[in-house]
Order: sequence, then structure tokens, then C-alpha cells
Amino acid sequence: MSLTIYNTLTRRKEAFTPLDPGNVRLYVCGPTVYDYAHIGNARPVIVFDVLFRLLRHVYGPDHVTYVRNITDVDDKINARAARDYPELPLNEAIRKVTEKTEAQFHNDMHALGTLDPTVEPRATEHIAQMCTMIDRLIAKGSAYVAEGHVLFSVSSMPDYGKLSGRSVDEMMAGARVEVAPFKKDPMDFVLWKPSKPGEPSWPSPGGIEAPGRPGWHIECSAMSAAHLGQVFDIHGGGIDLVFPHHENEIAQSRCFHGTDVMAQVWMHNGFLQVEGEKMSKSLGNFVTVHELLTGWQGYAWPGEALRFNMLRTHYRQPLDWTLVSLDEAHKTLWDWYGDVEAHEPASKVPQAIVDALSDDLNTPKVIAELHKLHGAKDFASLRAALGFLGFSGTRANIERKALDGAGTTDGADVDALIAARLEARNAKDFAEADRIRDELQSMGIVLKDAKDPQTGELKTTWEVAR
Ligand code: AMP
Ligand code: ZN
Repeated sequence: MSLTIYNTLTRRKEAFTPLDPGNVRLYVCGPTVYDYAHIGNARPVIVFDVLFRLLRHVYGPDHVTYVRNITDVDDKINARAARDYPELPLNEAIRKVTEKTEAQFHNDMHALGTLDPTVEPRATEHIAQMCTMIDRLIAKGSAYVAEGHVLFSVSSMPDYGKLSGRSVDEMMAGARVEVAPFKKDPMDFVLWKPSKPGEPSWPSPGGIEAPGRPGWHIECSAMSAAHLGQVFDIHGGGIDLVFPHHENEIAQSRCFHGTDVMAQVWMHNGFLQVEGEKMSKSLGNFVTVHELLTGWQGYAWPGEALRFNMLRTHYRQPLDWTLVSLDEAHKTLWDWYGDVEAHEPASKVPQAIVDALSDDLNTPKVIAELHKLHGAKDFASLRAALGFLGFSGTRANIERKALDGAGTTDGADVDALIAARLEARNAKDFAEADRIRDELQSMGIVLKDAKDPQTGELKTTWEVAR
């Protein structure tokens, strides 16, 4: 059976035919390394890990190249470095932040059972390629220099906006397009910009004298071309990246290479929210992979349960991350693993599993098939299928550790502060609510807000930070 994938570019499910079956090429936008990855960031990593495994199965493990970049130049990195290491020169502080965050990212993603990509390029190692691209885009009339910036001229590309399927007017209304006096058109976007004193900087392209740094979009155009060539098979990322990031990657790459497409297929995972709400710091439902692994809602959760919970929802659907669903995911694995542990592994992955995955990564169908194998007591096949999907099938790996919520802090104090915070929130005094949260944090207490699934009421629990 052939592989079909939903292509954002054509808005259709299409049969997948690689440009070169000897080297199937996949690019996924990776993390900006300044803080722990949240559980939403883990979604593309897990989804494209499943795709990577499937492609390796179909075309052979040596015939797939998976590139996932690391964005290590960004304002958020600079700000974090200045905040966390005020005593160090900025560039040194930045290196500390990016190295630490990258290591955390790798630890977390390994815990989720994901394979390393074939290549993990860093933006700062591809500045020369970016400058070459920018100079050529200027020479071709697709970009121009203005006040120390280089901007891509959107009007130079007649079918700009094809991926998101929106008109320029809609794109302007829907996104925070930065209006700057030096832009010829408000939709024009930055390829290169000046660095502030002390910030990381490189010799500028476009004949600009002052050193500067690249914009975000050009990074992926340069890194994908360097490792996968002018046109490759699949480009992936979260749905939020369609516009402007992917639209702009396409514009740069196609104009630079003179090609009709940048990638044949564009895949986007849906957004993840937590307990029915958009994840946000002010709602208190922002949760990192690290927290889930070390303590969330009273438990340290095994990475395999996080992975399984993620795959219960089809990758293009919105996903609601809840305690109830995570708990169910954990219980199911626990049951399965108990049975498969006692049996020999099968030598072959059941075809029904490969077929379901080949249908646009239909993981809910895969899971229904796993339930069938379990119901039929075909534990050897179940075990083979679990292994294929990146699950160990070993109970020791999915022990869920209960945490002691009482700790050493007086529980009554904490409860009183939580009540005061709730009161402040109800009065919409969010500054006071945040102040109380910080006070609790300084006592080593982490708050967890969750909606009661029955009443919809907001409930706050707490635990001792570890
Ligand atoms: P960022 O570091 O924000 O650029 O995000 C890294 C990756 O995570 C991108 O592919 C995003 O699309 C994806 N992502 C960020 N937030 C979420 C979310 N809440 N749900 C699903 N994917 C997300
Ligand atoms: Zn990208």
C-alpha cells in the first residue's frame, strides 16, 4: 500500500512519491533554544519522529535524511542571556544559554522516545550561506537594502501567499506585520538586520558596513538548502508556522534557486492546548516536558506515556492535553506492557499498523489496531508494533512516581496564599495574582491550575519543586 500525506500546499491528501527513493529528504523547523520545551513544542517532534520511522521502514533506514535545525540566534535568547548571566559578556552568556537549553531539549526528546534527526544544523554555523543567498536575492531584484536592513520584496513574487491560501490583505490583517518606515511595502520582511552594540553580529551582506544578524526565516532556507538541496520532499512544522515563517521560507528559497516549489509536500501539526485552554503563563497552565517528566499533577510521568498520549489524537487535529487523558494513556500502556513482557517479540510489524500509518499518519487508527491485537491476545504482534512506534514495551520504563505534595512547607500557609491568589484573579488583579505565584515559587512551591472536567471550575493544586 502506498503512502498518502495531506499536503498543506494543495489542501489535499496525495500519494507520496519521493524525488529520489534512494534519499528521501525531510526538514522540520526546530527549537529556538532559550528555555525548556513546552509540551506543545514536543508535538511536532513526536509527530515527525513517527513519520521518520515510517519513511525508514518503507524506503530503508539508510535512505532517509531528516534535518531539524536549532535556532541559536534570536532576541529571546539575547534577553534570557542578559537576565540569567548579567555578570558575563553577552556573547558568553548567550553560549551558556544555548548550550544548556540544547542539552535539556535533547534529554527531554530522548525521554519521549524520539530518534535523533540525521543532521541538526545550527543557524550560527550557516551565516555565510545566508549572506550568499541575501546577496543573490538583492542582485535578482527580490530584495533591497534600507537603513542597515535587507528586506525581501514581496511584490517581486507574484504567487506569494500560496501556502496559506490567503490574499495579501488577509495576511496583513491576520498577522502582526511590523510596519517600519523603511519598508517599501508593509508585507516586506527582514532578511538581515543591524545588531545592537554587544549583541552577536557578523559582517553584513548587501554592502552594509555595520555588522548585523540574520532574520529568522532566512535561516531555514539556508540550512535546508545546505543539507537537502534546492528542492526536497517534505517540510514540516506546527500550523502556526504556515504564515509568515513558511510562506517566507518559500519566497526566499524559490526566488534564490529559481524553482517552482521549495518542498513537494508541506505538513503541519495542529495546536495543543492544556485542559481546554490555550497554554499561557498567566493562566498558569503552561507546562514543560521537563515538568511532566519530573512532576505534574502529583506525578512524575514516564516519557512513553507522554508520547502515547500525544499520538492518541491525529496530528492535524487540535489536541487537548489533560490529566484525565494522560492518566488513561498511562493505564493502557501499563496493561499492554504487562502482557507483552511475558511474550517473545514477533519478527514482523503487522501490516494493518503500517497501513494505518501510511494513511496520513492515522495514529488513532493505529491505536485501535493495537487494542485489537491486545483483545485477540496476539501479544507478539502487539509487541512488534509497539517497538516499531518507539515504545519499549517494558513496564520498568513506565513506572509513574507519585510525589509527596506536602513536602516540608506548611500546607496551611500555602492554601491560604492560593486562596488569596484566586481572589485576586477573580477580581482580575492579575499583577497581584502573579506576585503571589512568585512568592509561592520562592518558597519552592509550584502551582498547577486545571479545570475540573465536570464543573469547569478552575482548581489549583500545588507541589514542592524538585
Ligand atoms: P517555537 O520554538 O515557538 O518556534 O516552536 C517550535 C515548534 O513547536 C514549531 O514547530 C511550532 O509550530 C511548534 N509549537 C509551538 N507551540 C505549539 C503548540 N501549542 N501546539 C503544537 N505545536 C506547537
Ligand atoms: Zn523554519
